[in-house]
Amino acid sequence: MIDIDMGAYANALKQLEIAVSHGQFDPAAVELLRHARRTMQVSLAVKMDDGVMRVFEGYRVQYNNARGPYKGGLRYHPQTDLDEVTALAFWMSIKCAVVDVPFGGGKGGITVDPKTLSKGELERLTRAFTRAIVDVIGPERDVPAPDVNTTPEIMGWIMDEYGQLTGKSAPAVVTGKPIALGGSEGRGTATGQGGFYVLEELRKKISLDPESATVVVQGFGNVGQSFVALCHRHGWRVTGISDSHGGIVADAGLDPDAVLAWKKEHGSVSGFHGSRDVTNAELLEHPCGVLAPSALENVITEENAPRIRTQVVFELANGPTTPGADVLLAERGVVVVPDVLANAGGVATSYLEWQQNMERSRWTEQEVFQKLSDIMVPAFRAVWDARERGGGSLRTASYLIALERICAAMKVKGWY
Ligand code: NAD
Repeated sequence: MIDIDMGAYANALKQLEIAVSHGQFDPAAVELLRHARRTMQVSLAVKMDDGVMRVFEGYRVQYNNARGPYKGGLRYHPQTDLDEVTALAFWMSIKCAVVDVPFGGGKGGITVDPKTLSKGELERLTRAFTRAIVDVIGPERDVPAPDVNTTPEIMGWIMDEYGQLTGKSAPAVVTGKPIALGGSEGRGTATGQGGFYVLEELRKKISLDPESATVVVQGFGNVGQSFVALCHRHGWRVTGISDSHGGIVADAGLDPDAVLAWKKEHGSVSGFHGSRDVTNAELLEHPCGVLAPSALENVITEENAPRIRTQVVFELANGPTTPGADVLLAERGVVVVPDVLANAGGVATSYLEWQQNMERSRWTEQEVFQKLSDIMVPAFRAVWDARERGGGSLRTASYLIALERICAAMKVKGWY
């Protein structure tokens, strides 16, 4: 059994080890993949509104760029640290290869609770971070994007600061920008949309019926909101929703738009009329057809996995299931759709945004979603077929596809 207290990066390396044991890879390639190519930690001095100077720690990890520029979001969270960012950068490398977009993997973040900052403080912090990493990012080098607690507006500040420092108008330096700065139609809801394409493919493979299968989501931010809104619109019954303050359940079904309006008014989903308040721990154990963790890592562990009563764990968050929990869920026949596939719609649409910026073109939302579907559906089918052929989990099948692509690129580049 695996220690449930392992950090996110140790979990990521464990997943790598499990996948490698199912395939045939050159040990030198595997050794390269156990290490990030570059790790940056920067101290960011920011003058607060009251005149006091505070220093924040920031990180950018460039994990692997064999297949293209490093790509990955920026997270602003009090628990963000180098271990978490390194794991997320590793998963980005795998994810970009699973959906076959020509990017490598990177990730960044700042240890901060942005809810405690004013807008001016947040902007000064973001611009200080951009100045600290300006030499290592760029459209052909490393392209950040939004993640937990980072927004299109923050991406706009990064693009502007980068432009001021380099003298270049380079919208492709970040994705997830506001539309007015070259952001893509559809990027705001793309991760949920991509997840929904995968869910609709999955239900053709297993007996998962929208009429009877219920959906529970942990995390009601960018990803969770758009995913359950789509589920609701297409006839799935959403019976549980949570945010960082707590959760609600209602077996008759919840209207995500009404829950969102309630959250905007009251600051949390808790207390929504016609529902019952639960803790986040209880929400994960609420019986359902599809459980979609959409917040943070390590929420499904060996400790709670035996009590989780769902047909499918649909990983919209990165790293929500520990390797030990994976084993326990598999023993009980729970299908785990891994993060590197389920939430890859975000990076796939970031690629579409980057492409539009590089070509100086603009596509409609319909065009963007058609292209997104053309990426996600074949990726799901390839992973499903690989699992049918080779056995193991959908995670291992995803990793094997990704590792073959990354190793092939590293090989012809002469890295091993
Ligand atoms: P977000 O900041 O928009 O929303 C996060 C949500 O999680 C919020 O509702 C917050 O209240 C909730 N939350 C925070 N801590 C929680 C806790 N301890 N328990 C329950 N809920 C909690 O972030 P997001 O962009 O929606 O990202 C969510 C997850 O999806 C992350 O794992 C992220 O890495 C992953 N992801 C995001 C994208 C993207 O495009 N934004 C793409 C791929 C993967």
